[in-house]
Amino acid sequence: MPYHADLLATPVPRYTSYPTAAEFHDGIGPDDQARALGRVREHAPVSLYVHIPFCEKICFYCGCNTGAAGKAARLERYMAALHAEIDMVAAKLEGRGRVVRVALGGGSPNALTAAQLDALAARLTDAFGGDHASWSIEIDPRSLTPDFAEAMARIGFERASLGVQSFDPAIQAAIGRVQPEEMIAAATMTLREAGVTSLNFDLMYGLPGQDAALLADNLERAVALSPDRLAVFGYAHVPHIVPRQKVIDARALPGAPERFAQADIARMQLVEAGYRAIGFDHFARPHDPLAKAADLGRVRRNFQGYTDDPCETLIGLGASSISRLPGLLVQTEKNSGRYALRASNGLLSGNRGIALEPLDVLRGRVIERLLCNGSTRLDLLPDRARIAERLQPFLERGLARLDDGRLQILEEGWPYARAMAARLDPWREQSQRQFSSAV
Ligand code: SF4
Repeated sequence: MPYHADLLATPVPRYTSYPTAAEFHDGIGPDDQARALGRVREHAPVSLYVHIPFCEKICFYCGCNTGAAGKAARLERYMAALHAEIDMVAAKLEGRGRVVRVALGGGSPNALTAAQLDALAARLTDAFGGDHASWSIEIDPRSLTPDFAEAMARIGFERASLGVQSFDPAIQAAIGRVQPEEMIAAATMTLREAGVTSLNFDLMYGLPGQDAALLADNLERAVALSPDRLAVFGYAHVPHIVPRQKVIDARALPGAPERFAQADIARMQLVEAGYRAIGFDHFARPHDPLAKAADLGRVRRNFQGYTDDPCETLIGLGASSISRLPGLLVQTEKNSGRYALRASNGLLSGNRGIALEPLDVLRGRVIERLLCNGSTRLDLLPDRARIAERLQPFLERGLARLDDGRLQILEEGWPYARAMAARLDPWREQSQRQFSSAV
């Protein structure tokens, strides 16, 4: 793949929403959240996301809203608040909406006990229905217990995502995530036995001390365990935003050209191994629902990245979770203590977000199609001429084509997909907020 440093020089968003979370402001509050929940239509398919902001051990690189699980009482208090919020949100819906997906993320949902997981699933089903929903969960292999896996099997989780990142012991030590290969293999087997039919591994490139050979070896080890999907993310070193990353030795990080080469190696090696490339960082076996959605041009992007989840309406529950509601993107209070206090007092805690105008929704769709299908209708946007100008550097270098108003990413252009999407985003003309590197 050709490397054009100038086109990747500016950090850009990941576009898990449009407008992105950088555009959220604190003029949005619980009343806006309640009104938007009131606009959910009678039979609208709804996806629930439940955030568990706790992990048994905190990794040095992690930019998620999570903290050490620590005292059991803290987790109990949070779960009580979450149950209260579930009831409040369900009451606002008054039976409208039809839950088709339930996703548990974090943090590490398996910081919960099996009993807490059972109770959470029962409360969600009671409050929202969704007996036939598809359930998914993020799992930390370091803290997956047989009890927890049994609870997963009882509830019927079909999908799981395992945080693998790297198999290399020295890299694992450098990023504060020590999990021997045998532990990852055992977690894989446990999840399969618990009934998980779509298993994802998260891997990373651009880690301290990682070179092309180490990455290739890691990919081989991952493929040997036969995950149905892989997501391969570039490590974003932003210690000014994520202070826990200060422990990571910046001198050991690969430079930008090496990172670019590593992303390329991952794409080539996984495609060679029989995975279908989905967008710019996901890969799926042909039998997996994500690959099937890609065949039909139905892959979406939501706050968790690439997905086959078709729902327009996403309801986030738990501290820092984001909801996509009719006319509104809204995020709940990030601090889990303040969130718990509000929820246990019967108060919703949406405190940041942005109202969505019809043009935002349209632009969001155009950007989403570009990042999911590699092709989109630029001619739908009123500022298409200005965007076409901004895209010239990509068009001139053979990374994309623009024909009859349709923008198409060419094979060599995928590493630049987010950078191209940023040219469709008027907010990026105004601000260079803190985002991760474009590759
Ligand atoms: S397990 Fe996942 S969420 Fe928890 S600290 Fe590590 S990377 Fe972050």
